[in-house]
Amino acid sequence: MPIHNRIADFHADMTAWRHDLHQHPELALEEHRTSAVIQAKLKEFGVDEVVAGIARTGVVGVIRGSQPGGAIGLRADIDALPIIEQTNLPYASTNPGVMHACGHDGHTTMLLGAAKYLAETQNFAGTVYVIFQPAEEQHGGGEMMVKEGLFDRFPMDLVFGMHNWPKDAEGTFLWRVGPTMAAVANITIVVTGKGAHGAQPHNGVDPIVVSGAIVSALQSIVARNVDPTETAVVTIGEIKGGNAFNVIPPDVTMRGTARWFNPTIGDLLERAVIRIAQATAEAYGATADVTFARTYPAVINDEAATSMARTAAEAVVGAARVVPMEQPTMGGEDFSFLLNAKQGNYIMLGAGRTTTDPQVHHPLYDFNDDILPVGASYWATLAEQLLPRVQP
Ligand SMILES: [Zn+2]
Ligand SMILES: [Zn+2]
Repeated sequence: MPIHNRIADFHADMTAWRHDLHQHPELALEEHRTSAVIQAKLKEFGVDEVVAGIARTGVVGVIRGSQPGGAIGLRADIDALPIIEQTNLPYASTNPGVMHACGHDGHTTMLLGAAKYLAETQNFAGTVYVIFQPAEEQHGGGEMMVKEGLFDRFPMDLVFGMHNWPKDAEGTFLWRVGPTMAAVANITIVVTGKGAHGAQPHNGVDPIVVSGAIVSALQSIVARNVDPTETAVVTIGEIKGGNAFNVIPPDVTMRGTARWFNPTIGDLLERAVIRIAQATAEAYGATADVTFARTYPAVINDEAATSMARTAAEAVVGAARVVPMEQPTMGGEDFSFLLNAKQGNYIMLGAGRTTTDPQVHHPLYDFNDDILPVGASYWATLAEQLLPRVQP
């Protein structure tokens, strides 16, 4: 079974919705217009209930099928990124410095398309919750929704998420059981030494030299502390200190990121980053103030939910185009907060037209409108095909 014919019928409408969202991108927790558009559309579609204001700008639509049954949640993220768009598209961002560069405009549209179809046909058992989540890129809107009672207010058996994936061919699905996307922490290290004249280093404690030693030493964590069969990354991405060629500054600030899958590795990274930064600074007569702020946990896909997701994807694009993700990705994703609270699956939908398509978070990226009916049909199929089998 390919794309739902009824969904293909309103492909042009979905494309128009997507372009409108693309033109009006909003940053995390500021998605007020986006939220209003979603609410208006859900009401227009005749969705049974529309609940707004969860995690500030989040929206949940409740759609009841024609027969009794279980309940599932389908989640799309709705926020944009602080990126200056360079696409020159006719529907390019009109909000300077903000851009839908991760395709959340497309995610929102695909879920709206599924909501329209499901509200119209009601050809399923039980309840579908369409979850429009704010603040995926920053501030953890997924965690906020869970904390504000998403799963208590809308009791469901399973929750599903999806991301477009320009690296792989359009219309393919990539699935994975277990660890799929990495856990993330932001590292900040402030090295405090003692400022001095650049020609009189003996009168100061040079935090730039200390920082160099810390950066090098941090690379020994993955090489020497982490079990080689485990996965971990420690990257320092920013070093700021000093503003003259002949002055030793009093301090240096470094920022970086750590990624892992196994929670015990996360604990190890935290302890090691703090220990190495502080002890190295001390060895040089300086001090280091370290914060290791965990943002998103790892995305761990449930086996049963993943097999349901695969079945639905195969129904839409055929078994040959539903393939395992060979490796997890070290990118982070706050759907993990939903998956920590409820079993479910997060699947990738191939979006690449060519092998050189700009990837997500690139100023030339644009969501591929050709996959709108594919994603919407996948959501609809999950509801139609799988809901009767979900056991509470
Ligand atoms: Zn993103
Ligand atoms: Zn994204």
